Amino acid sequence: MQRAFECTGPSTVVFDQSLTEYDFGPEHPMTPARVDLTMRLADELGVLGGMHRVAAPIADLDLLATVHEPAYIEAVERAGETGVADIAHGLGTEDDPVFRGMHRASAHIVGASVEAARLVHSGRSLHAVNLMGGLHHAMPGRASGFCIYNDVAAAIQWLLDHGEERIAYVDVDVHHGDGVERAFYNDPRVLTISVHETGQLLFPGTGFPEDNGGPDAPGSAVNIALPPGTADSGWLRAFHAVVPELVRAFRPTILVTQHGCDSHTQDPLAHLMLTVDGQRAAYDELHRLAHEVTGGRWLATGGGGYAVVEVVPRAWTHLLAIAAGHPIAPETETPEAWREYILHLRGEVAPARMTDGRAPLYRDWREGYDPDTWLDRAVHATRKTLFPLHGLDPMP
Ligand SMILES: [Zn+2]
Ligand SMILES: [Zn+2]
Repeated sequence: MQRAFECTGPSTVVFDQSLTEYDFGPEHPMTPARVDLTMRLADELGVLGGMHRVAAPIADLDLLATVHEPAYIEAVERAGETGVADIAHGLGTEDDPVFRGMHRASAHIVGASVEAARLVHSGRSLHAVNLMGGLHHAMPGRASGFCIYNDVAAAIQWLLDHGEERIAYVDVDVHHGDGVERAFYNDPRVLTISVHETGQLLFPGTGFPEDNGGPDAPGSAVNIALPPGTADSGWLRAFHAVVPELVRAFRPTILVTQHGCDSHTQDPLAHLMLTVDGQRAAYDELHRLAHEVTGGRWLATGGGGYAVVEVVPRAWTHLLAIAAGHPIAPETETPEAWREYILHLRGEVAPARMTDGRAPLYRDWREGYDPDTWLDRAVHATRKTLFPLHGLDPMP
């Protein structure tokens, strides 16, 4: 792998076991086992040995109120104490069931992402990762899409409030990062880029190229709405055709990224067809971009991902290893002890290798595009709308 930079770190993972108390129950797809199995895999592969690990504080009410309405925070507290649904605030729905201690568990995840922001802002860490974070659908006044409080928006707001001039946010979750986009839609200091399956077919039904920022911030919201069935080569083609150039032009002081891995072909909730190899390539490119554009200042979060055994642990262990400056070779075998643990715990056969056996190749946009394909029309629509707003030429 060609690297034009040296990753000298230090890097930190913000994690303690009590963060997994964010748990909607055994019937819900977003089980905290996703992160538990990831941390075990990363540990057994020696990845955590190359990173600092810190516990997370719980966000206080003032911090939550930087991105949420006080009435909503009270509603979350109340629902978590009484167990009673509050549908007006999105609490007690199928996606966001009420659970005991919901406020505290959700505020803890905000605390973890803000702690990661604090580490990068202060320079104590060059890269910081919160795998429990990335709850990108939460809105100022309501829960949405498995997300109660928006830890990403709170971390970005904290960075702005502490003097960071420009933040670029790149969201590679299969779903549109609508809550983060909404929080900063009219703020020219934040560039939000979301690469997702088109809202024509998938929750939350938003995120089209023409939605490109409020009146005070034209071009600050970027959406790539991909067709269903997009696989590694198409996804990487779209990503490279849009993301690096816009992030470079924006000149952020920190890069914030959301790494939902529900774009995988085995994910049960969406219809893209990436492999772990394509996801690893995307994470690698975001890391490289941070070193190029922000001097390496990088805050990464988890996100969606519902293939609990097959995908999430491998995808996010690759993310941690990249952030630690020691990427794991794709052909690496998964540790036998980890596979045994999963077999005993869940009765499932875990993947044997860190790869799905695919080479993440793609055709570069500069070699030309084909308006007869849905993918290329989608990419071109984003470039045509957004690139002129950043002084860039939309044509290849
Ligand atoms: Zn690095
Ligand atoms: Zn998602």
